[in-house]
Amino acid sequence: MAFVAGPAVTAEWNCTRCGVTNRRLVAAGDRETMDRCVHCGLRHRVRQDERPVRWHAEAA
Ligand SMILES: [Zn+2]
Repeated sequence: MAFVAGPAVTAEWNCTRCGVTNRRLVAAGDRETMDRCVHCGLRHRVRQDERPVRWHAEAA
């Protein structure tokens, strides 16, 4: 996990392949990040949704 300086929020997202819930710390104000599933390793583009914690993920 990358180190985030300053205010940060936790982005929660579900893997589109295995369904595992992943969490990533992102800088406050960021609306998009790249992450890999901790379970199957599939890379995803994760975007902030209307809900603050649960983010929208798509395979990338
Ligand atoms: Zn997965």
